[in-house]
Amino acid sequence: MGAAVLMVLTASFALASSRQEVVSRVVASGMPDCLSYLEDGTVQPCRPAISVTAALDISAVSKGAEIEISRGASQRLNKDEFALLVGHEVAHWYLGHSASNVTNELEADALGASLACQAGYNPQRGASLFRFLTAGTTHPEPEMRRNAVKAVPCFKAQYLH
Ligand SMILES: [Zn+2]
Repeated sequence: MGAAVLMVLTASFALASSRQEVVSRVVASGMPDCLSYLEDGTVQPCRPAISVTAALDISAVSKGAEIEISRGASQRLNKDEFALLVGHEVAHWYLGHSASNVTNELEADALGASLACQAGYNPQRGASLFRFLTAGTTHPEPEMRRNAVKAVPCFKAQYLH
């Protein structure tokens, strides 16, 4: 058992391909006005680096362009919830947030909903994500966060699944 636990703590996790597709779509436009100059001479929009931690809870953290998503979030959320979570973390990066507070969280919720919508996912349905998240001094009540997401217009004939 000890060896198995150690493996869980030290392994780095790859996203399932269906989840990788969600990430790719949400970050596809890259950060506006930020370009990466690649070794092969091509120029691409800047994109965040997304890694998966061993944690089995539903959590994610954005440190600038480095975003960590828990293994639990990558496996337990439905696609719309996952797209909203990725959009939220990417939004922190876009918005240049360096600290977590209620204002920043609600801004990231709104922009994250917009990014998830542009990527083809349904942020209204994804708002059930907030049932997993707790409020605190830096994070608003789940109901406020659901409202911030639902205030973002997103009308598509079809959403991706
Ligand atoms: Zn946040």
